[in-house]
Amino acid sequence: MALIALAGAGAVFVLLGTASTAEAAAGPSVRTEGGPLKIRSAPSQNGAILGTLANGTRLTLACQQAGQQITGSVRTTTAWDRLSDGRYVSDAYVARTGTPPASCPPPTWIRPANAPFWGGFRTPQRPTHDGVDLGAPRNSPVFAVAAGTVVTAECNVSPTHVCDVDGSAAVAGCGWYVEIRHLDNSVTRYCHLARRPLVNVGQPVARGQALGYAGMSGNASAPHLHFEVHTGYPATPQNAVDPLPFMAARGAALR
Ligand SMILES: [Zn+2]
Repeated sequence: MALIALAGAGAVFVLLGTASTAEAAAGPSVRTEGGPLKIRSAPSQNGAILGTLANGTRLTLACQQAGQQITGSVRTTTAWDRLSDGRYVSDAYVARTGTPPASCPPPTWIRPANAPFWGGFRTPQRPTHDGVDLGAPRNSPVFAVAAGTVVTAECNVSPTHVCDVDGSAAVAGCGWYVEIRHLDNSVTRYCHLARRPLVNVGQPVARGQALGYAGMSGNASAPHLHFEVHTGYPATPQNAVDPLPFMAARGAALR
């Protein structure tokens, strides 16, 4: 269920390079038939659309990795270019006179729980469901999907409720939950933990470190893990993306 009372201003991303004239001549830029180029959460058209870039926009690219083959205005290729904030554009629409960016390092993320997939991101039935639900049994460990720093570890429920008891459909909020800010500035959120998290705000965590135990605090009618991915910090509904392609692109399929 969606987190309550945490809405804030959406993150603003700066994508444009400030290349000198000489660099600009060789640097990459968007080349379409005229329309905007979609920015995706993963190297595939299955990835969520996170923004667009106008034709001609100069790009600063972090690295390149293989994904869905695309035929674009420049070439047909399986290469996707990762922007500095972790989002992707198809290299089929990127013109350059220099060499392509280096290959991205191999994905190193893991699943947040050893649990089956239960429910998806912003489905027609639950359009405000900003994450996925995994059927984690009560008291099973919940893991950090990648290294990072704990930015939230607290109880989030509607007034007059608490987190140390089972929640229900009548309770609002994420219950006991944790947020991790990762090295690429993305944020992952883990909701409905059974009790106070094992980690504290400001604490660095390693990939695979236990953050707490699955439960049903907050808006939950059965024990499970509600897991969200956000492409920026702080996490907001505006920067939430579908965890399935995001995690799959990092080697951790959730279903
Ligand atoms: Zn959920």
